[in-house]
Amino acid sequence: MREETDVLIAGLGPVGAALGVYLGRMGVRAIAIERDMDVYPMPRAAHLDHETMRLLHLAGGAEAVSKASQPLSAYEFRNAKGELLTGFLPKGALAPTGWPWTSMFHQPTLEHALRARLATLPSVSVRLGHALRAYRVEGEGVIAEVETPEGTKEIAARFLVGCDGGNSTVRRGAGITFDDMGFDEPWLVIDTVLTGGVTRISTVGLQYCDPARPVTSMPMAPGRHRFEFMLLPHEKPEDVMGDEAIAAMIAPYHDPALFEIERRAVYRFHALIAKEWRKGPVILAGDAAHQMPPFLGQGLCSGTRDAANLAWKIEAVLRGRAGDALLDSYQAEREPHVRMITGMAVALGKIVCTQDAEAARARDKDMLAAPEDKRMNEMIALEGLKSGVLPGGGMVAPDARFRGARLDDAAGYAPILVTREESDATRAFVASGAFTVALSALEDGAEGFAALMNGAPALLIRPDRYVFGAGEAAALLAAWSAYLAGGGVAASIAAA
Ligand SMILES: Cc1cc2nc3c(=O)[nH]c(=O)nc-3n(C[C@H](O)[C@H](O)[C@H](O)COP(=O)(O)OP(=O)(O)OC[C@H]3O[C@@H](n4cnc5c(N)ncnc54)[C@H](O)[C@@H]3O)c2cc1C
Repeated sequence: MREETDVLIAGLGPVGAALGVYLGRMGVRAIAIERDMDVYPMPRAAHLDHETMRLLHLAGGAEAVSKASQPLSAYEFRNAKGELLTGFLPKGALAPTGWPWTSMFHQPTLEHALRARLATLPSVSVRLGHALRAYRVEGEGVIAEVETPEGTKEIAARFLVGCDGGNSTVRRGAGITFDDMGFDEPWLVIDTVLTGGVTRISTVGLQYCDPARPVTSMPMAPGRHRFEFMLLPHEKPEDVMGDEAIAAMIAPYHDPALFEIERRAVYRFHALIAKEWRKGPVILAGDAAHQMPPFLGQGLCSGTRDAANLAWKIEAVLRGRAGDALLDSYQAEREPHVRMITGMAVALGKIVCTQDAEAARARDKDMLAAPEDKRMNEMIALEGLKSGVLPGGGMVAPDARFRGARLDDAAGYAPILVTREESDATRAFVASGAFTVALSALEDGAEGFAALMNGAPALLIRPDRYVFGAGEAAALLAAWSAYLAGGGVAASIAAA
């Protein structure tokens, strides 16, 4: 018998799980299928930025991460002599979102927390041990063929979202190819547990740009440490994966006895961006849509932003508040960010991965020419949205305290209208599932919202926390409805 749902999520990695929670919070009917029975066991993400922590908080994943994470005091790229080539420094303890600029963590902790939150949401059904085999587009939706422990079944869905990772069945089924941004390097990645009850050996994340062997050394969650070793041209994975080989590679930096090896894997780091992120009812998110080298720790961060950008748009289309074209704004808004961050990760990767001694000398001469304080940069930030918002909007809204907690907690994954005074327009908006708050009711952090309002009576923030615009409340809400109905084009709508 064929089952029916509104959204079929293929793949329950962190991106599929976050998408499932966002949809579930809005009561959207969804089925999430996952091929494996447990979360992915191999070493992967170690860093989350502050915006991602905020979005994961809305998905129920940040609390567990926060309890088992630590910030970086700096992220540095040093040459074989230990000289600073470039680096990044956080601007103080907390970012305006209310989260640390960096959280060094353990990916399975996040994935378990997201799955636990998902299990509390009645409109989303999770099916482990269920693999998407194939699908076809029929009418307005898709019919998916799913291999289950009880045999092959069909699931009909209005939307199929491929969150099924780098080798995505959904992407291949849609015939979508990648734009290759030119990076393909083999690295051994080692996750270790610190021995003797040690919680950390450093608060600095380091890239040792030594042409003899490029090495990454990163604090993770307290009590854990990550090493990454680039393979040399003559090396095969089996040459570097043994305990002795690993100890020999750690030894120039630390006493290998400090570390117990927990997980090891050889990866090829790529920079790939899908040419299309949506084909009718088929949509890609996370690694299925893009993969980048991990030198900025942004792959999972980017996938989380995808999920946060997408879920409310799917909901608005399903409930008839938005036309189908709104979903085209997903790639238009997300791809520039992914291209920018992938380009930066590739550029940093090329600095790190230099194995030619002559090229490394030229690199060092060039980079060391700048004074040392000019070689350190602020932690990277994405530019604001250029579309999908009113003129003057597009920046990430800060968080504030409201009734002793985060405003984000009170608002949830919904649009937020901040007003100077209540009106009929705001009451109607609340009835549509949005959250409204008076500026005067905000405690710590109200000034950030006042600055964004710039004297206007109201400020509208999208569920993914980008500022839609400022203006008269009634005009803003009319602009928001028109934006949804008009397929995500807002730039020409006057707010006031
Ligand atoms: C060494 C390394 C370090 C990294 N460091 C960072 C970092 O510090 N910060 C950061 O933000 N990112 C980092 N990343 C990237 C990050 O791990 C990924 O971007 C993230 O895991 C992608 O999540 P996802 O949910 O899109 O895909 P995945 O995590 O790959 O999940 C996809 C899921 O889909 C399932 N699946 C696949 N095919 C099917 C099918 N046919 N049917 C059903 N289920 C299916 C899989 O079993 C899997 O569970 C790193 C990656 C690596 C390799």
